[in-house]
Amino acid sequence: MPIVSIPLGERKIKPCRVFCIGKNYTDHVLELDDVDKTVQSKTGKYPVVFMKPVTSIVSSGELIQAPEHGHTLHHEAEVVVLLGSGGKNILIDDSLRCVSGVTLGLDLTLRDVQADIKKRGHPWELAKSFDQSSPLGLMSPYDNSFDLFNISFSCFINGEKRQEGNTKEMIFSIPKIISFLSTVWELFPGDLIYTGTPSGVGTLCKRDEIILESPILGRHKWTMF
Ligand code: MG
Repeated sequence: MPIVSIPLGERKIKPCRVFCIGKNYTDHVLELDDVDKTVQSKTGKYPVVFMKPVTSIVSSGELIQAPEHGHTLHHEAEVVVLLGSGGKNILIDDSLRCVSGVTLGLDLTLRDVQADIKKRGHPWELAKSFDQSSPLGLMSPYDNSFDLFNISFSCFINGEKRQEGNTKEMIFSIPKIISFLSTVWELFPGDLIYTGTPSGVGTLCKRDEIILESPILGRHKWTMF
């Protein structure tokens, strides 16, 4: 069943769309065994953007069923922002007023399927946008009380640390991402943005326990079915 609302403090927000940013941490781009190792430049025109359906969202604490159309399911730990307001052509300096929640999530990826479709030049949906591909932690309301540009976070699989990152390492910062997306799509309350993953992505197996943790954003857990 698709998630019908995202808890945000006392409120419940209906999810609108799931935007994802690719190749936003240099160390992750370099680790992929991929012919295309193009690293985005801070002065580059725009980020890599793809979307997932809202049926991809899985609340923390729930079981994740691995898809059956691929073999190598990878975890990508990411900081996720929830928009509480939107608009078109939002200025970089105005964009943080749209953010109402922040959490950690996973951009689950079938890496073998992605490698094949990249080779063929096909779109990424089969590798990225399947049901349950966007585990989403419990939102921390964003009220300017913490620094979005310095959020450290880690991913543990069965207690072993696999990924570690900090939003200060992003190639495209959260304000730049929001501003860019708003030049293409009118943004709405309930839009989610997965902001990219640092290095250390790796394979998930049945019964694996996944924990995402941040001193600012708390601890979020899922188990593979
Ligand atoms: Mg990702």
